[in-house]
Amino acid sequence: MAGILFIISAPSGSGKSTLVDQLRRLVEGLDFSVSYTTRAPRGSETDGREYHFVSRERFEEMIADDAFLEWADVFGNYYGTARSALALAAEHHRDLLLDIDVQGAMQVIERMPEATSIFIMPPSPAVLETRLRNRSIAEHMTDEAVIQRRLQQARGELEWLRHYRYAIVNDVLDTAVAELRSVVLTARGEADADLLRVARSCETREGSMRLANA
Ligand code: 5GP
Repeated sequence: MAGILFIISAPSGSGKSTLVDQLRRLVEGLDFSVSYTTRAPRGSETDGREYHFVSRERFEEMIADDAFLEWADVFGNYYGTARSALALAAEHHRDLLLDIDVQGAMQVIERMPEATSIFIMPPSPAVLETRLRNRSIAEHMTDEAVIQRRLQQARGELEWLRHYRYAIVNDVLDTAVAELRSVVLTARGEADADLLRVARSCETREGSMRLANA
């Protein structure tokens, strides 16, 4: 595609949604790919805005038609990025942001290694656990076995960090948003010296994360 492809992934509990929302407000010219999913809408989610909500049958038809750039089964539901989202962004010379899980990200990174991939990390295992427990309470899913399964899944996802180009620790929200913005501007070649320093500080190198203070 003509624009830049950004991939953002995070284990649940790393606070990614807020970050992505703020990034979209701060940075112009960044389209957000609306994924397809078979999960039910939550709260005020609207079809076509957060997701395209479809049945399993429809999703499977789309798989058969090769309509997805990537797709994955996440917590028992299908999620996928339509090839058409990429084509549309390319046609309009826009950058495109994919907010997808690690399984989907691995598929895209393999097919499009030039993509700028970013992994959002929770500040610590304890914070991750607190966030996951709070979310489970909010979703009325307080069964300890379910919580443990989610925790295990989230810890497992952290292992994928080394496949991403950048890692951002979501500790202080404003700082994380600034880092994310600097990564986007750096990829576009628009960053000034300060931003470049921040972007380098969260670059991942062969599995070891450098988090020197910028
Ligand atoms: P949620 O149901 O909480 O909105 O999302 C659950 C997970 O699915 C998140 O990790 C999110 O990044 C991921 N996800 C959302 N859309 C896609 C997609 O199109 N493909 C893949 N592989 N994962 C997705």
